Amino acid sequence: MSPDAETPTYKGSCQCGAVTFTARTRLEAPFQCNCSRCRRLNAVMHSVPDSDFVLESGGEALKTFRFNSHTIAHQFCTVCGIQPFASGTDRDGRALHVVNVNCLDNPVYDPGAITRFNGADF
Ligand SMILES: [Zn+2]
Repeated sequence: MSPDAETPTYKGSCQCGAVTFTARTRLEAPFQCNCSRCRRLNAVMHSVPDSDFVLESGGEALKTFRFNSHTIAHQFCTVCGIQPFASGTDRDGRALHVVNVNCLDNPVYDPGAITRFNGADF
């Protein structure tokens, strides 16, 4: 869904605060993934189009980890180790970021709306 005037802008960060970002989105489609990485992170994720995502600081602190098909750039802070988001493209090739909802300040969402994504079989 594209943002409108009432769409909130969330601030997000890694644990140490080196990496900060904003995401303009409604957290309507949170998901948990069972792939070998997300299972370990136990993160709640949510996809945001590149146009609604801004990396505010910390680009130099980020390191990218890729595995399996190498299509998703898992970005983690080299200072504190937290992964605030991953970057990739949707099925139509448009850039997007999958933010770690647990890295957002005061995220508003319904935990009952969390869906399971079967990344393990991807
Ligand atoms: Zn950090």
